[in-house]
Amino acid sequence: MRYRCFMPSALSPGVRCLLSFDFDGTLHDPNEQPSVLPQLFALLASLQAERKALWGINTGRSLPYTLEGLLEERFPFHPDFIIAREREIYFPDGSGNWTPDQEWNDACHHAIENLLEESKPLMDRIRHLVGEQTGAEWIEQQGEHASLIARTEAEMEWIAKQVEAMVPADSSLGWQRNSIYLRFGHKGFQKGSSLAAVARHLSLTPEAIFAIGDSHNDIEMLDRHIAGMIACPANAIDEIIAHVRAQSGYVCKHSHSKGVIEALQHYLS
Ligand SMILES: [Mg+2]
Repeated sequence: MRYRCFMPSALSPGVRCLLSFDFDGTLHDPNEQPSVLPQLFALLASLQAERKALWGINTGRSLPYTLEGLLEERFPFHPDFIIAREREIYFPDGSGNWTPDQEWNDACHHAIENLLEESKPLMDRIRHLVGEQTGAEWIEQQGEHASLIARTEAEMEWIAKQVEAMVPADSSLGWQRNSIYLRFGHKGFQKGSSLAAVARHLSLTPEAIFAIGDSHNDIEMLDRHIAGMIACPANAIDEIIAHVRAQSGYVCKHSHSKGVIEALQHYLS
């Protein structure tokens, strides 16, 4: 792997645009071999060189699981940033390690911890309902304050509807959903606000930001207030296609990484 040193505190005056990619279902197609088209890597390298672009993975995966994915899919070079669990920001330190954006990650961690503490009676009611009515697994562990894994997407659909009905609209309690997974958190910390935080380090405005994703947890980054160039691959779920279309974003004709190449060419070539 090739590593590049990127110090967010020093800012990078030469950077002209920021590219944010969801991983599973967007860059990565588990049913294809190779699961990420090699042409994408060539395009990213040319956008880095010619358009002074920085690119990153913006995913629901944890940092270790993201790095495992990059290794498995033989990415020839590392991204310039990773947003993990939809809300934690990491930058490469130039020596093969990843350093957290400590200020953002700490603020995120404390906000979620305090919110879940305040919302304990509500969280207990949700947990009880899910335990009584479904076979979903409730997970609480290091770094994972409260999340759920349903048995099927239909079961998750049901759970998400119940959660939506139970959480007051003015609550800061948010949740990120992707296929059978749901993660509780703070509405202020998701893929969109985290991407905006990376952009602030680089003094970039939304017009200079590209984002592409396929599922529920991509909604906040696929927003014109966050990214001026938004897209979804052809395989995106219906809600995302409608969401992107409603903002005059780009809905690809192709799926997965072939769609990502198409969207990058649409906006940046
Ligand atoms: Mg996805």
